[in-house]
Amino acid sequence: MTNPLLEPTALPAFDRFAPDQVLPAIEACLSRFTQRVAEVTAAAGSNPTWDTLMAPLETEEAALERAWGPVTHLHSVADSDALREVYQQALDQITEFSSALGQNRELFDAVKRLRADPAFATLRADQQAVIEHELRDFMLSGVALEEPARTRFREISRELAQLETAFEQAVMDATDAYARPLTEAELTGIPESERATLAQAAADHDLEGHALTLQFPVYNAVITYADDRALRQEAYTAFGTRASDQGPQAGKFDNGPRIEQIMALRFEAARLLGFDNPATLSLTTKMATSPERVLGFLNDIVVRAKPAAQRELTDLAVFAREHCGIEDLKPWDVPYVSEKLRLARYQLSDEELKPYFPLPRVLEGLFGLTETLFGVRVVERSGVPVWHTDVQFFELVDSNHRVVAAFYLDAYTRAKKRGGAWMDVCRTRFRHGDGIERPVAYLTCNFAPPTGGKPSLLTHDDVTTMFHEFGHGLHHMLTEVEARGVSGISGVEWDAVELPSQFMENFCWTREGLDRFAGHVDTGAPMPDDLFRRLLATRHFHAGLFLVRQLEFGLFDFRLHLEFEPARGARVLELLQEIRREVAVLHPPSWQRFPMSFGHVFAGGYAAGYYSYLWAEVLSADAYGAFEAAGVLDADTGARFRREVLSVGGSRPALSSFTAFRGREPEVDALLKSYGLAA
Ligand SMILES: [Zn+2]
Repeated sequence: MTNPLLEPTALPAFDRFAPDQVLPAIEACLSRFTQRVAEVTAAAGSNPTWDTLMAPLETEEAALERAWGPVTHLHSVADSDALREVYQQALDQITEFSSALGQNRELFDAVKRLRADPAFATLRADQQAVIEHELRDFMLSGVALEEPARTRFREISRELAQLETAFEQAVMDATDAYARPLTEAELTGIPESERATLAQAAADHDLEGHALTLQFPVYNAVITYADDRALRQEAYTAFGTRASDQGPQAGKFDNGPRIEQIMALRFEAARLLGFDNPATLSLTTKMATSPERVLGFLNDIVVRAKPAAQRELTDLAVFAREHCGIEDLKPWDVPYVSEKLRLARYQLSDEELKPYFPLPRVLEGLFGLTETLFGVRVVERSGVPVWHTDVQFFELVDSNHRVVAAFYLDAYTRAKKRGGAWMDVCRTRFRHGDGIERPVAYLTCNFAPPTGGKPSLLTHDDVTTMFHEFGHGLHHMLTEVEARGVSGISGVEWDAVELPSQFMENFCWTREGLDRFAGHVDTGAPMPDDLFRRLLATRHFHAGLFLVRQLEFGLFDFRLHLEFEPARGARVLELLQEIRREVAVLHPPSWQRFPMSFGHVFAGGYAAGYYSYLWAEVLSADAYGAFEAAGVLDADTGARFRREVLSVGGSRPALSSFTAFRGREPEVDALLKSYGLAA
């Protein structure tokens, strides 16, 4: 074969493939996949088996991953015009292929027969899980419906996709349409570093000097630092009414009617599939078993977090009066006064911390911790083809000197690379024939590159990000599952997938963890106690206020989907008022319209799932509690975590994995403790 994207190599040939090879490779993969589906469904007859039905499909999925994975990865980290063009075309083909596969009745029937066969009971747990997930996903795609429901369901799906895109677009348009020049006087209080962002915002809108826009970093700089109270109010008003019937752009991009349409269609789709409402539908792919569990969970935290939030707000109001000359604290004062209070109380800056976090030292410590806890060594290997000279390649080596997995680390920010940090899959572990495909991950961050002969110095936030993404990586790489569909992070419930990543963050907040990876860039000295204490204190700053906001979002999203009734509509603003009366301590003005820009829920994948953020934090905090009890660096607890959580992927329910590790179900107290709110 001459197309490197089609070669069955263990690692992508980043040194050899060119954009013009992408479309031929994807077309070859999809046509072979299509042919294979036709073959296996034709051969399935009355008694399909894992080997005749599922194994061939997993092999084709792996081939598609080998061809497409490097393309999506480069699209994110080393984009070019040539690549972008073929990327979009290939993506369209893959999307079309996937949705046709989800609607393939013959394949669905074959999988159903496999599930009904007595031999199903003799399959491995991971194989059974893949089959169950497959049937569930088929069912959720509407393939099992009879006419006319089937056609109607497809119409709804198409309409919903359009409405969700339009929702997102309206938020973007509303954000882009607003730009207000700032006078020199209005810049008072805003630090130099932030002013650069404001100057860029002005340039983007063909304005002189500085400008307030509604891009988050710009808005955030103004609302956090501007001494001019009227300006902060103006910024708050414009930002909090984006894409609504209120504020400076009232009615121009209003998402209100769109939300009604989205909710009505989501309700209809859920009913067609046999669910009471979209909230119940959403839980089929989640760890939470019932709406009562979700609401009980959130309301339980309200009881504990609200008094803390109230205390923090009172404290803030006193500080505002005594130090900022603000008699009546308003929502547009809160970020500003909070920042002043944080500085006064902890005198902690990134600049003071950064010398203790040179990236090589952080990695060395992180890898050492991984060896102590999970029994695998992380070894750098050179000579592997990469897409940029910054990229490092590492292997995970177990106690028998076997290489079990590998990952690429692309640490530094640069042009043509998407912002943020993430873990992505390069190769998924699975058994094919006699062999095992080894899992490989991409870890991507955007840290400041090394300068002046010194290594990259991270902020504490950066360090936490590194640990977070590495936790996702461990979940993917330490899997021992052999069925592809539930290997690593695949098939793990949506509200549990952040468990390993958030779990790893905890080590950034303990002395034992920190001493492994923090050392002064010049002297190697550990972090002084006083600095560590101040760092630790900031962890819980305004935890109550943070939590009540998350609870307001989570409850609003979940109840909106649970309580929708066609006759009365979505009741967006009434419901929000109701929830705020129960949860909020600081009440936004009645014209505030945050739901109209709540893209997570109305345009992203978080519908009736926003609660997942807190849910997963309970799991990670409670799992970490086992380490605190046994000793933070306890190897036995680490081995148990690896065995019961990291290695099993989606081969069993997340609750079973958690319970196997912890010896009991998760308890919400662990979350409160991690926020410093334990009773
Ligand atoms: Zn994550």
